[in-house]
Amino acid sequence: MDTDYDVIVAGGGLTGTIVAQAVSHYSNRNLSILSIDRNPENLPGRKSNPGWTCGDACSKEAVDFMTERIKVPWTSPEIEHDVKGVMAFSPDKETAIPFDGDGYMLNRQKLPEIQNARTKKMGVDFDFEINLTSLIYDGLQVIGVQGINNKTKQPYKKTAKVVVDATGVTSMLRNQLENSTKVEKKIDRRDLESTGRHIMYFDKGEEDLTEFDPDYCIIHLDQDIAPGGYGWVFPKADNKVNIGLGVEKSILDQRNQRLGKKDNVASLMEEYLQRNKAIKNAKLSQDPGDIHNNTGVFQVSVRRQNDCMVSGGYMLVGDSAWMPKPIDAGGIGPALIAGTIIGKNVVDAIQANDVTEKGLWQYNLDYIEEYGYKTAGLELFRRLVQTLTNEQISYGMKHFLGNLDVESISKGEHPDFSGLTKLGMIIRGAMNKTVASGLKYTSEQNQWLVEHYRNYPKEPEGFNEWNKSLHKTLDESFAKIATYSKN
Ligand SMILES: Cc1cc2nc3c(=O)[nH]c(=O)nc-3n(C[C@H](O)[C@H](O)[C@H](O)COP(=O)(O)OP(=O)(O)OC[C@H]3O[C@@H](n4cnc5c(N)ncnc54)[C@H](O)[C@@H]3O)c2cc1C
Repeated sequence: MDTDYDVIVAGGGLTGTIVAQAVSHYSNRNLSILSIDRNPENLPGRKSNPGWTCGDACSKEAVDFMTERIKVPWTSPEIEHDVKGVMAFSPDKETAIPFDGDGYMLNRQKLPEIQNARTKKMGVDFDFEINLTSLIYDGLQVIGVQGINNKTKQPYKKTAKVVVDATGVTSMLRNQLENSTKVEKKIDRRDLESTGRHIMYFDKGEEDLTEFDPDYCIIHLDQDIAPGGYGWVFPKADNKVNIGLGVEKSILDQRNQRLGKKDNVASLMEEYLQRNKAIKNAKLSQDPGDIHNNTGVFQVSVRRQNDCMVSGGYMLVGDSAWMPKPIDAGGIGPALIAGTIIGKNVVDAIQANDVTEKGLWQYNLDYIEEYGYKTAGLELFRRLVQTLTNEQISYGMKHFLGNLDVESISKGEHPDFSGLTKLGMIIRGAMNKTVASGLKYTSEQNQWLVEHYRNYPKEPEGFNEWNKSLHKTLDESFAKIATYSKN
């Protein structure tokens, strides 16, 4: 069948541009590629009206993964500031865990401008101001996208052999997908965090490296100020910061009830900013690279990636596939990895002349092998931490984390707590014994889950059985974790 393009990348955000570049790279520019986004050309990659709402932090390792493979370097001004890693502080601030290693603070408004210029040079076409509403099907195959041209108000239709959905967490294309029972369409509310942040200049207050550190992205675990999530203070310069927090709605409701308050994300952000003694007289940045992007609230998912990320002619990537890491909502790293990998999968499938579900299946396996094997275990870990009190988190971080655990956390792996609660180990307080047995439990479940993901079916035929067994374990684990909050 003749199509307008070989590949359509729906959504020209952070992930979409990497996908377009990767397809172009792996096909030696031999495939025709169209990137479609609802933003005007002068505001590319904007998530929603308030801007490119993000903490802006990503690891050097993930950027290198992409650059080494598809030969696209990220430099200044899209990289605004270098950091030595992320430092997560316990609620009592007595324990800090470093993770992710060297990294970058990005300018999310500049990044897509620069990325789009690079992508155009690679021969990719762009359509802006197109609001995509649905996919076009031919039997079991997706063969294109449709929507409305916001400028002309005319209907818009384009066809392709493969449509890659990079339209972000709210993807309408995924929500209404008609050609798969394997791809999950809707997300559980409890797997979404409501998050907000400001980008600000400030005067230096008290010297306190637990509140602002020009060399480290700081995370504050604190169930009072960021219930079910965390607060962050990420440096953009010695006197510039990306400061924000994320909450899980039902845990925020419980916290409000517990404290007799009526807070929401905006009021918590205000309190979080005001209580930071290292940051004084903070003002929203008016830099040209932040002007449309200095404050905003948006959602981010914190679960494993979609159980199946392909159907006939259709693939999911980035936030639309729920790729952000379940424990810290970092979505840029997985987007860099998946955006790179998918380029090769798309090219292989088109060259093999098989863009059916089966022909695209290898993408599921390649992503799991590189990154996705660990996310279900981290989802359990996140659910457990969300049930804990500030005292339990502080105690657990102080007493249960050995060097090896810190090392696994720094690599984004679930730590192995299977030795916890062994005979002779002194754990003070019943509440802390609950933490220990919870951590031991999620470790054990994690081992099973990693193994299960290593056995992800090689062909679509094996999926239903694999998925049934995944959900049986997850349902049991979620129920068990819920019992820890009652102890
Ligand atoms: C407050 C907050 C803080 C975060 N902090 C970090 C962090 O510090 N580090 C990190 O790694 N990750 C962080 N994340 C996650 C990170 O921002 C995302 O993982 C990343 O932006 C995902 O990129 P994406 O391209 O997949 O989706 P998006 O950035 O959402 O881009 C989607 C694109 O698709 C377009 N689009 C959507 N719908 C349509 C439609 N119907 N028709 C046409 N176009 C459409 C949009 O206009 C946009 O350009 C954070 C998220 C939030 C909300």
